[in-house]
Amino acid sequence: MPDTVFRAARVVTPEGERTADVGVRDGVIVAIGPELDAPRVVRLGDDEVLLPGLVDTHVHVNEPGRTEWEGFASATRAAAAGGVTTIVDMPLNSIPPTTEVAALDVKRKAAAGQCFVDVGFWGGAVPGNVRHLRPLHDEGVFGFKCFLADSGVEEFPPLGPAEVEQVMRELAAYDGLLVVHAEDAERIAPAPASRRYADFLASRPRSAENRAIADVLALSKATGCRVHILHLSSSDAVPLLRQARADGVRVTAESCPHYLFFDAEHVADGATQFKCCPPIREGVNREGLWRALRDGVIDLVVSDHSPSTADLKGMGSGDFGAAWGGISSLQLGLSIVWAQARARGFGLTDVARWMSHAPARTAGMRGKGGIVIGNDADFCVIAPEQTFLVDVARLHHKNAVTPYDGRELVGVVRGTWLRGERIDLGAEPRGRFLQRGTA
Ligand SMILES: [Zn+2]
Repeated sequence: MPDTVFRAARVVTPEGERTADVGVRDGVIVAIGPELDAPRVVRLGDDEVLLPGLVDTHVHVNEPGRTEWEGFASATRAAAAGGVTTIVDMPLNSIPPTTEVAALDVKRKAAAGQCFVDVGFWGGAVPGNVRHLRPLHDEGVFGFKCFLADSGVEEFPPLGPAEVEQVMRELAAYDGLLVVHAEDAERIAPAPASRRYADFLASRPRSAENRAIADVLALSKATGCRVHILHLSSSDAVPLLRQARADGVRVTAESCPHYLFFDAEHVADGATQFKCCPPIREGVNREGLWRALRDGVIDLVVSDHSPSTADLKGMGSGDFGAAWGGISSLQLGLSIVWAQARARGFGLTDVARWMSHAPARTAGMRGKGGIVIGNDADFCVIAPEQTFLVDVARLHHKNAVTPYDGRELVGVVRGTWLRGERIDLGAEPRGRFLQRGTA
């Protein structure tokens, strides 16, 4: 017998939308069906849809060490306000980076008691830390991130080709996952000191991504290591991914809201809030990414929320060379993607697959990522037809910088529920730490 029933005309499950009651007991989904009974009934409005809570596996929280960029309290508030019930924190930009268990402990200590949503952690693979990977894996990190080119911070250097292979052989031994920032160091140029977006874009061509992805796929094939391509921007790499999968390579890929929303033709010179690596590319490239989502070659869409202070983001100078490369969007991801998906004929079932089911599955997270019996009762209540204008000053992100400021988006998050209880940003945070394979 459920203690709570969520009653909605539209419930989005992995099989599609249906009218249903979702029964919850002790924070877990125990029944999905018509006319369930419970002491408490949460009735959604006629214009509201019950979505699974989003799982954002690509968030740079930056605490400790660069807490002025973002922090666990502000990031998880923003997540909750945006319908995200689970985030997985990237190993870099915080200091120390999460490249050994002692650093993971420092991070967990910093995060404790501050998290409004559930939080998991990625480990990092950097030169010389291979012996630390297994202990981190045993501590429950979801996988390991590496770079093939400069990461933007000196304490997280990239791996060379021989080191990537060594890490893949190590991870393959216990079926670990390597998540890769795939840009080839030799094919990118230092960002030129320039206010012109075209100059920045030219410094990081599609060929740099294509080459790096081809190399990663070849090494994955040789070693058997599972790999995940982070923030795919070059649509030219889609055929490589498709072919690799056909050849049995265990690869998944993500793209991000900014690559699916913006195009390079409309980035104004000096508008450094749009700077990210790999860069936002041309409109025709964006449409290629949408086709790859339709075809299932891109599995998931996650934010790559990577803010900095306004000063470091170049908001004064407009210099694309000096500005921090990273886009702030955690609170807005659902509405950004839905606005674009809806216009292309996709449904909320597709959005839930890209932003909840697939991220949880890719990371090896149990009990999350779908309105399914046995999963945590993590929900997002959205009014999918309601539009709003983004006002950056009203977001929960620590720094009031985002390229979406002033944009009209569609889909208003009316409430976010974690393990059967509505998240209240004025109350004690209830988020838990997650480990791979467990809820
Ligand atoms: Zn990132």
